[in-house]
Amino acid sequence: MAKEDQKFAIGIDLGTTYSCVAVWLEQHSRVEIIHNQQGNKTTPSFVAFTDKHRFIGDAAKNQTVTNPENTVFDAKRLIGRKFSDPIIQKEKMLWPFKVVAGVNDKPMIVVKYKGQEKSLCAEEISSMVLMQMREVAEAYLETPVKNVVVTVPAYFNDSQRKATKDAGAIAGLNVMRIINEPTAAAIAYGLDKKTNCVGERNVFIFDLGGGTFDVSLLTIKDKVFQVKATAGNTHLGGEDFDNEMVNYFVKEFNSKNKVDISGDPRALRRLRTACEKAKRILSYDITTDIELDALFKGFDFCFSISRAKFEGINMELFEQCMETVERCFTYAKMDKSIVDDVVLVGGSSRIPKVQELLRDFFDGKDLCKSINPDEAIAYGAAVQAALLNEGMKNVPKLELLDVTSLSLGEVTKSDIMSVVIPRNTTIPVSKTKEFVTTRDNQSEVLIGVYEGERARASDNNLLGSFVLSGVPPAPRGHPVYVCFVIDSNGMLSVSAEEKTTGNKNEIIITNDKERLSPEEIMRMIQEAEKFQAEDKKFLRKSKAINSLDMYVYKMNNALEKKDIISKLGLLTREMINLEIKMGTKLLDGKNEHDEAYVYEDYLKELESFYENTIGKIG
Ligand code: ADP
Ligand code: MG
Repeated sequence: MAKEDQKFAIGIDLGTTYSCVAVWLEQHSRVEIIHNQQGNKTTPSFVAFTDKHRFIGDAAKNQTVTNPENTVFDAKRLIGRKFSDPIIQKEKMLWPFKVVAGVNDKPMIVVKYKGQEKSLCAEEISSMVLMQMREVAEAYLETPVKNVVVTVPAYFNDSQRKATKDAGAIAGLNVMRIINEPTAAAIAYGLDKKTNCVGERNVFIFDLGGGTFDVSLLTIKDKVFQVKATAGNTHLGGEDFDNEMVNYFVKEFNSKNKVDISGDPRALRRLRTACEKAKRILSYDITTDIELDALFKGFDFCFSISRAKFEGINMELFEQCMETVERCFTYAKMDKSIVDDVVLVGGSSRIPKVQELLRDFFDGKDLCKSINPDEAIAYGAAVQAALLNEGMKNVPKLELLDVTSLSLGEVTKSDIMSVVIPRNTTIPVSKTKEFVTTRDNQSEVLIGVYEGERARASDNNLLGSFVLSGVPPAPRGHPVYVCFVIDSNGMLSVSAEEKTTGNKNEIIITNDKERLSPEEIMRMIQEAEKFQAEDKKFLRKSKAINSLDMYVYKMNNALEKKDIISKLGLLTREMINLEIKMGTKLLDGKNEHDEAYVYEDYLKELESFYENTIGKIG
C-alpha cells in the first residue's frame, strides 16, 4: 500500500461477537475490508488477561477454554447500562467473567491480570477492541489512523451511544460520528441513491449475527434515513446454531463410544470451535467432515454432517427468526409488500436456509447480498467516514440524516413525561419549550431529562437532571425556557433559561453521573497506552525469541552438511558448538529474561560470529 500521501477514511463495525474495519481509499474510489494479522476480515470482540499478557481478538478467543474467568466478551451488552439494569442482572448469570457494581451503579468487569485483580468498565474493554481494529488498519495502511466512524444498533439509547464514543476516545480515536448499523448497511448498498427526490424507498435490514438478531425497517426519503420499526432477539445468533450442533454431536459421540463427554469443558470447547468451522463450510458446501484426534478418553471424533442435517437441527431457531421479522411489520403497522429492498447483514445471514426462508417470506424477492453480510456495516461506515472527511474526492454523493431513536423530554408535575423532541425527528435538531413554575415564589426549578415513549416519566430512562436557580419571586406559572439540542451523533445537551434575569444552566449529558468524566477518560487513555506498551514489549520479545530460535535451527541444519564441518578447524567447530549451546540455553530459559534485547543481542552476536567463520546462512 502506498503510504503518507494517500487519503483514506475508516469505518468500524464494533460487534457483540465480531468486529470489522473498512477503509475508503480516495485513490481507488472504493471501500476495502481490511484483513487482520490472522488473515480474517472479522476479529472476535474478545479481550483476555493472563499472568503475563493481554490478548485481543483471535488470540483472546482461542484461549477462552483455559482461562474462562479472565476472557471478556459481550462488552456491547454492558456498555452504557447500569449494573442494576435487569438485562445486566440476567446476562450476568451467563458470563464466566465476574461483573460487580461500581461507583454510581456502573457495571465493572473484574479480571486477574499479572497476578493482580483489576476492574474495568465496558468502555475500556470496547476501547481495547477498537484499538485492535485501529492497529489492523494501521498495519495495512502503514500510517497512523485517528478519525473513524463507529456504528451502533438502531435501538441504542443516548447513554449507550455516548459510552461507545468514550470507548473510542480511550482508544485514542476521534469518533467523527456514531451511526446506526442498519443505516450503514443501507449506505453500503447505495440504496439512498435509488430514491429520487420525491420517491421513498422502504428497506428491510435483516441482521443475524453471532449472538444477537436485529431487524429494522427503514425508509429513505429526501436523504433522510428513518427507522420505522425495529424488532429483535437479544439471544439468537450464530452461537446458538453452534450450540445446537454441539448438542447433536455430543449425543452421537456418547452413544458411539459409550462415554459421557458432556462434563469435559475442554473437549466441548474443541468441539464447539470445530462446529463453528463446519457451519461456515455448510454455507457453501452440502456436506463436511469434522475430525478431532483424541477428543475424549483417547477416542477420536470423526463425523460427517450434511447441510440438510444442520438445517434440521436448527429449524426451530430459523423459524423464530421469521417470527421476529413478522413482528417488525406488526410494530410498523405496515405490510411486507411495501418493502423495496431486503438487505442481508451479519455473518449468520450467509446460511442458505435462512436466506431461503426470508426470500419466501418476501414472496420470492431478490435479497441484497452482493456485499458480504458480515462486512456490510463496516463498509457503510467507511463511506460515511469518507463523506465526513473534507476535501475527499470522488466520494459518492450522499447526505445522511439520521433520526432520534427515542423521544426526549422533561418531567413535569405529577410525573408526566413532556416530550420536547419526539422520536424519529431528523437530527441535528434544537427545540425550545416553555415550562412554568408550579408554586408561588419558586426560586429553583429542577429539570429532569428523560428518554422513552412511556407517558409516565419514571417509566422512562432518566438521563440526568440539573437545577436552574435564581428564579425571581413571582406567582406560580412563571415561565422558564428549556432547550434540547441533539448533535449529529444523536447526543443530547439540555439548557434552561429564565429570561427576565438571564439566569442559565445547562447539562451536556456528558457530565451525567453514569458517564465517564473527562478525568476518568484521561486516566483510561493513559492506562490504555500502558497496556499497549506492555503488549508491544511482549510482541518484541516473542519476535526476538522466534528469530533466535529460527537462526539456531538453521545453524544446526547448515552444520549437519558434512562438507561444511569437515572444512572447519577443530577450534572453530568447538566454538560454534558452544555458541549453539548458549543459544539453546537462552531459549530454554526464556521466562528468566523479560527484555527482548537479551535475545536480539545474542542473535546479532551469533550472526556475526557465524558469518565471520563460515559465511551467510542461506
Ligand atoms: P456480530 O453479531 O458480532 O455483529 P457477525 O455479524 O460477524 O458478528 O456474525 C458472527 C457470526 O456469524 C458467528 O456466529 C459466525 O459463526 C457466523 N458466520 C460467519 N460466517 C458464516 C458463514 N459463512 N456461514 C454461517 N455462519 C457464519
Ligand atoms: Mg453485527
